[in-house]
Amino acid sequence: MTAPGLASPEPAGPRLLRGGPIAAEVRAAVAAEVVAFREAHGFVPALAVVIVGRDAPSTVYLHKILDGCRTVGIVDRLIELPEDAGPARVAEAVAALNADPAVAGIIVQMPLPPTIPLRTVIDVLDPAKDIDGIHPLNAGLLALGYEGFLPATAHAAVEILKRSGILLEGRRAVVVGRSNVVGKPAALLLLREHATVTICHSRTVDLARRVRDAEIVIVAAGRPGLITGEMLRPGAVVVDVGINVREGRIVGDVDAASAAPVVSAIAPVPGGVGPLTNAILLTHLMRAARNQAEGRVALGSRSMVPTLPMESMP
Ligand code: NAD
Repeated sequence: MTAPGLASPEPAGPRLLRGGPIAAEVRAAVAAEVVAFREAHGFVPALAVVIVGRDAPSTVYLHKILDGCRTVGIVDRLIELPEDAGPARVAEAVAALNADPAVAGIIVQMPLPPTIPLRTVIDVLDPAKDIDGIHPLNAGLLALGYEGFLPATAHAAVEILKRSGILLEGRRAVVVGRSNVVGKPAALLLLREHATVTICHSRTVDLARRVRDAEIVIVAAGRPGLITGEMLRPGAVVVDVGINVREGRIVGDVDAASAAPVVSAIAPVPGGVGPLTNAILLTHLMRAARNQAEGRVALGSRSMVPTLPMESMP
C-alpha cells in the first residue's frame, strides 16, 4: 500500500522521444524563414506533390504534407494523375515542375503503380528540387558525406536522437532494414555522426544477437512486433520507424510492451518519427528554395556536385 501523500510506485518506464514537440519547433523556425524569404525574394516557394492513382495510405500521407505546408505558409501544389497515366505523362508532369521557377521542391508519392518504373521519375527529376532525396545524385552525396537532400524519414529518425541529446559518437548502432528510403540512409547518417553501424535485413542470421549488441537501434522493417524486449540490450535507445496496421491500430515494428521495461528511451509509434518527418521535409523545401533563389544551384544540372575534393572521413 502506498503511504499517504506519496505518489503510487508506478514503474518509471523509458523516456519517450516524442516527435510532436520537436516538429512544432521545426515548423516555427520554417514559418519564420518563409516570412524572411518572401521579404527577400518577393514570393513564397511552392512544394509540389505528384500522385499517380489513389493508393489510400499515400493519400493520407500526402494530405499531411499539404497541411504541413499551409501551417507554415508554404504554397502547396497537388498534381493528381490517373492510375492509367503512362510513364510519358508522369515524366511530362515532373519536367513541367522542374521548369517552374515558383516550385522549389517536388515529391512524387510512392508507391507508383506497377506500370510506372521508378526510373521514369528519377531520369527526369531535377536533383536540386528532389527534397525527399530519391535521386541517385543526392543518394551519392549522402554516401560520400556531402550535403545533398536526405530522405525525410531517415533524416527524422536520426534527428529525433540528436535533438533529444542522445550521444551517437562511438556508440554501437544497429539499423534493421536496408531500403533506399529509410534503412540505408539512416545507417549512413548514423555513420556521419560517428556511430559504429551494423545494418540488418531480411537475410540477417541471428537478428536478436545483432540487436542485443546495440546501444542505439533504428527499426524500419515494416514487420509489426519484430523487435521484442528480450532482443534488446538493457538501457538501449530505440527509434521505431515502422508503420503497420494491426487490428485497426497503428503499431510499429517494436513490441512496445516487452521493450518498455528494458530500454532507456524509445521513439514510439505512433508519436515518434512520424510527426517529425513532414516538418523535416519543409526544412528541405526551404533549403532548396534558398539554393535556387541565391543561384547556388543551376537547375536541371550536375551543379550540386561539390567542387571540393572528395575526402574520406577519418
Ligand atoms: P521496405 O519494405 O522497403 O524495407 C523493409 C526492410 O526491412 C528491408 O530492407 C528488409 O530487408 C527488412 N526486413 C524485412 N523483414 C525483416 C526481418 N524479419 N528481419 C530483418 N529485416 C527485415 O520498407 P521501408 O520503405 O524501408 O519502410 C520500413 C517501415 O517504415 C515500414 O513500416 C514503413 O511503413 C515505415 N515508414 C515510416 C515512415 C515514417 O514517416 N515514419 C516513412 C516511410 C516508411
